[in-house]
Amino acid sequence: MYGVLEKIVRHPERVTLEEVAWVMSNDELNEELFALADEIRQKYLGKQVYLRGIIEFSNYCRNDCLYCGIRASNKNVKRYRMSVDEIVERAKLIAEMGIKTVVLQSGEDPYYTTEMVGEMILRIKRLNVAITLSIGERDFEEYEYWKNLGADRYLMRHETADEELYKKLHPNDSFQIRKSHLIKLKQLGYETGAGSMVGLPGQNDVALAKDVLFVYELDADMVGIGPFIPHPDTPLRDSKVGDLTKVLKLIALTRLFLPDANIPATTALGTIHPFGRQLALKCGANVIMPNFTPSPYRSHYTLYPNKICIFEKDTACGECTKNIVRSVGYEVSEDFGYRRKDHERSPCRV
Ligand code: SAH
Repeated sequence: MYGVLEKIVRHPERVTLEEVAWVMSNDELNEELFALADEIRQKYLGKQVYLRGIIEFSNYCRNDCLYCGIRASNKNVKRYRMSVDEIVERAKLIAEMGIKTVVLQSGEDPYYTTEMVGEMILRIKRLNVAITLSIGERDFEEYEYWKNLGADRYLMRHETADEELYKKLHPNDSFQIRKSHLIKLKQLGYETGAGSMVGLPGQNDVALAKDVLFVYELDADMVGIGPFIPHPDTPLRDSKVGDLTKVLKLIALTRLFLPDANIPATTALGTIHPFGRQLALKCGANVIMPNFTPSPYRSHYTLYPNKICIFEKDTACGECTKNIVRSVGYEVSEDFGYRRKDHERSPCRV
């Protein structure tokens, strides 16, 4: 098995589920894996790190995902919705700080109609930024309508590529449905973000290997990977936190399979370890997402407990994330940060 990392780099299409699971379950190759992922990231993307300013504009959600703190049946959440004007104001602030991507995230909240989201897109695009939508599963017609108005990217993690586990965690949804949405988004020309949590109850190394092979097959343009963090107001309250090393390994493996994809050092990783994001940037990640959700809303977007940056001045994350990037020897990019696609390596396979 010792040639497996080289095989992933040279012939990713030939790598088996068992081989990826083997890497996940054995720690002998960790140092080599992390160093190789960093080398590949530097070869394809240099030292540049992209910043994405995120606005979590509503914590209402019609879904009941077992892991999530803002699930519909959690009655302990103070729910909020930002108006379109408030959202656009925040986007202005992001643009003024020289950050070239605005991520609009929320629970699945049908209050925001097709037209309202369309208005956000039109007004924010005037600020000369790229827009990422992260608002969950909507109608295919809406995806198309928003794409035509100028939305650039869509972020919808696949959460886990293990079909059985997906079913257990998501009442009224299935992995096949999720996959069909992701494929549709790709077909419409969105830069499409998938990704998963690590350490979900019942998730073994084979399940984690499925996550890597799935984002490779999809040819995901972005892959967000973070630890699962149990929330006290959810049915998974007694589960364990995802393991830092496993998260870093999944990030590094994803970098080997998708050398040119955009991979964030996630906030959840920064939550379970004081240097979680720095470590991720050193083993394959090339994106960081400063939080621009205004106070007092920010403290109510509680996907998981102890989320970092809650008590900061509500624009402080911009500078803080830039410092994180520089502290590990990388550079803050002033680019829009579209995927620098290496077409020969990257055909969609599903
Ligand atoms: N409604 C949008 C946004 C979901 S929230 C959508 O469906 O895409 C963003 C991400 O937070 C989720 O995709 C999930 O991977 C992550 N998340 C939710 N609960 C979490 C928890 N308890 N621990 C870690 N990450 C969590």
